Amino acid sequence: MTRRAIYPGTFDPLTNGHLDIIERSAHLFDEVIVAVLLNIDKRPMFTTDERVDMVRRAAQWDNVKVGTFEGLLVHYAVEQDAQVIVRGIRAISDYEYELQMALMNRRLEPRMETVFLMAAEAYSYLSSRLIKEVFKLGGSITGLVPGLVEEQMRAKASEEAAGPGE
Ligand code: ADP
Repeated sequence: MTRRAIYPGTFDPLTNGHLDIIERSAHLFDEVIVAVLLNIDKRPMFTTDERVDMVRRAAQWDNVKVGTFEGLLVHYAVEQDAQVIVRGIRAISDYEYELQMALMNRRLEPRMETVFLMAAEAYSYLSSRLIKEVFKLGGSITGLVPGLVEEQMRAKASEEAAGPGE
């Protein structure tokens, strides 16, 4: 049986913390699907296509694939024939919400197991939100996100500075 795991998230943008979890998962499972969430309420900095592209280019392990989903994660996971949902835990503050989600997902789909992986210490304080905040204020994010993500953030910032095109 192919052990297939889904790693869902917004990835707006992908950080080295996410990438570390993807790499750990790639070693643990036969196949990992990084599932990028569509249609999020909060206006994302990057479009779905841009976020998918970022993950595709940065997560270059043979057994890692990228997909998109909307609606219930467990429906997508069943559709993809996955047995495991992977989530990253940075601190106790993540745990409460993650536990709630994991238990709800178990209720919805008892066969689906949620596996929590501990963040690498070096990235355990990183969140996409913090990256965006520091970047907007002109701070360096080098070493915290993949190089190509940093480039895309710069490109996005100059696009915005140029104003909306017709
Ligand atoms: P969401 O909006 O679903 O929280 P994110 O893209 O922010 O999506 O995160 C996806 C998953 O990655 C979550 O399980 C989150 O806890 C985990 N994660 C986020 N940042 C890090 C990090 N720096 N190290 C490890 N895991 C992380």
